[in-house]
Amino acid sequence: MHEALFYEKKENGVHCHLCPHHCRLQSGETGLCGVRREESGRLYALNYGVCAAMATDPIEKKPLYHFFPGSDIFSIGTVGCNLDCGFCQNWQLARGHRQGENVPIVPDRIAAMLEKQKGPHNIGVAYTYSEPGMWYEFVSDTARLVRDKGFKNVLVTNGYLNIEPLKKLLPFLDALNIDVKAFSDEYYRQNCRGRLDPVLRYVETAAREAHVELTYLVVPTLNDSREEVRSFAAWVAAINPSIPVHFSRYYPQHRFTLPSTPVELMAELSKTAREHLHYVYIGNVPGSDSAHTYCPACGKAQAGRDGYRTRLLLCGDSCANCGRKSDFIMN
Ligand code: SF4
Repeated sequence: MHEALFYEKKENGVHCHLCPHHCRLQSGETGLCGVRREESGRLYALNYGVCAAMATDPIEKKPLYHFFPGSDIFSIGTVGCNLDCGFCQNWQLARGHRQGENVPIVPDRIAAMLEKQKGPHNIGVAYTYSEPGMWYEFVSDTARLVRDKGFKNVLVTNGYLNIEPLKKLLPFLDALNIDVKAFSDEYYRQNCRGRLDPVLRYVETAAREAHVELTYLVVPTLNDSREEVRSFAAWVAAINPSIPVHFSRYYPQHRFTLPSTPVELMAELSKTAREHLHYVYIGNVPGSDSAHTYCPACGKAQAGRDGYRTRLLLCGDSCANCGRKSDFIMN
């Protein structure tokens, strides 16, 4: 077993400081994430080197729309999550119900596999599918090797991690898609077994050092008021109005049986968010015009998207109409 980082030994066990739950564990207890366990006075990361899902995906699937648009990324994930969202779309992985399909893997192997796939389209590794923050030690070891070989590291995360571990990982990360599941602490407490404030601090910290895009899953009646979305968008704009925000349409999943989010509501909320933000996208709504990128200065399309396919409409790296430099990261 791999010894965990960020814990203290206590008289009767250990105190984990990786995430805001700060679990106190003793006598073989496992943390709320299900993947860190106390044994004989030490804390172990049970999922180190445990790969539960692996695929090469379009970068747009993460979703990252402004980071090397049109490229592919080698995507890996494990089991375990420190939140417990009733609407989770990956709950079998998050709750560790697909243990039988896991394969052992080491960071060197990931880096070697990446080299074999080297080509103009594959830009690096995305740590995704379940919660990569709960795979911290493995992600940290792998990200260093991936960076050494000249590839990119991307995290798709719930943003529920303490700031010290985040700061130690950020120098090896290039881009993050972070969920902000609502702009209400009550929502996080009632539906996710978490709190809002640590997520906001995570986003602010990450955005200072890496490319960040945000995902907000719109669940009807629970986080879909104009006031909440307006407050969220104003908070993002205060960090940087060019941070892309993806409003994702909810479908019934896991413990949630509410009907799917109306498409008209998605359009209204994205319009509200655009009062503050330059780039607002709608996800999980095939054929929506809000999947495209428009120049914040003149409104001309800069990228068209059909599913996960992107067609850039720039002149070099600038708007073909007004010449404003695009906000895409392309090299
Ligand atoms: S990482 Fe896991 S064990 Fe550590 S505090 Fe968070 S939920 Fe608890």
